[in-house]
Amino acid sequence: MRFEKRVPLSTPTMHGEEMTFVQEAFDKNWIAPLGFNCDGFESEMAAYLQEAGEMHCLALSSGTAALHLAMKLAGVKAGDPVLCSDMTFAATVNPVCYEGGIPVFIDAEPDTWNMDPAALELAFAKYPQAKVVVLAHLYGSPAKMDEIRAVCQRHDAVLVEDAAEALAATYKNQPCGTFGAYNVVSFNGNKIITSSGGGMLITPDKAARDKALFWATQAREPAPWYQHEEIGYNYRMSNVVAGIGRGQLLHLEEHRDAKEAIYRRYEQGLANLPVRMNPYLAESTPNFWLSCMLIDEDCSVDPMTVMQALADANVEARPIWKPMHSQPVFADCDFITAADTPLDERIFARGLCLPSDIKMTTEEQDGVIEMIRNCF
Ligand SMILES: *Cc1c(COP(=O)(O)O)cnc(C)c1O
Repeated sequence: MRFEKRVPLSTPTMHGEEMTFVQEAFDKNWIAPLGFNCDGFESEMAAYLQEAGEMHCLALSSGTAALHLAMKLAGVKAGDPVLCSDMTFAATVNPVCYEGGIPVFIDAEPDTWNMDPAALELAFAKYPQAKVVVLAHLYGSPAKMDEIRAVCQRHDAVLVEDAAEALAATYKNQPCGTFGAYNVVSFNGNKIITSSGGGMLITPDKAARDKALFWATQAREPAPWYQHEEIGYNYRMSNVVAGIGRGQLLHLEEHRDAKEAIYRRYEQGLANLPVRMNPYLAESTPNFWLSCMLIDEDCSVDPMTVMQALADANVEARPIWKPMHSQPVFADCDFITAADTPLDERIFARGLCLPSDIKMTTEEQDGVIEMIRNCF
């Protein structure tokens, strides 16, 4: 069997309201940077996150740009060790290097596939001078936030939360993207909602948000002429792009529910195979951005074999994020684990991201499940 139409991993799903906001920007000839859609997008995001208290949001050109400004706000300086999630997308870590920081990679734990609090504690023992922790929530499953925050507090470290994959996920009813001093979400094309490309910095600290805005708009000092006392960036989101984001935000919960339905169908369809789904904590509600499976270590089926079988059938699956400590570009960086065999290497070796596009039909997903079952 082969699908005529490709079954993708995760693509944008538009609804129509996006166009209304974009049209308004055109009608008012308000296309250029900043403007009412940026303001609206920021305040609507703050309202969405209000259960965590008052948040100040800054719409930016990408999640990576938001992470870069978060590094600056956290005070990362050349030569500083920065303790980072190891199994994540490189965009979590690259901004550390933009500021000259030295990433130290922290292994994952098996209950959420996120940063292991025990390994983080070991890292502080080795790097007592470390002042910043960058934590990603993988595939929309919240990390062990109580434990992580306790370790950060014990060592007086600033927490930066990379919630690029975790918008609409909660831990003990608190939304991801509100746990750190500085937090980041992404609206890249494959994320749970998209503005076509963009990101947001989220912080409870209004002064920090204003400072980030200053850097993001070329660090222009308040003077009648162009006056610069710091290096700036051009990181702001455009009013058109923000319009798409506003329309998408209206459908965030709906997207989350559709993602969860996909996860549940895989969970049921793959039951009694030697596989498990990506795990999460009972006290959290993931956004189920991507459904992943982990093949038992004593099973002879290789995830790459499954990926190839799906590719032959016109179905897109992807490997798990390859751990940062095994990336050539970070070969000189330290890696801290509390396990005998690094847990994230084991997940990388046995895991696979499954198609999780919310436009996938039940019939298509049943077909995908059947193909996976045939590999065993
Ligand atoms: C997508 C992603 C980013 C980067 O976001 P962009 O908006 O694409 O720059 C950062 N971290 C993680 C974990 C991501 O998945």
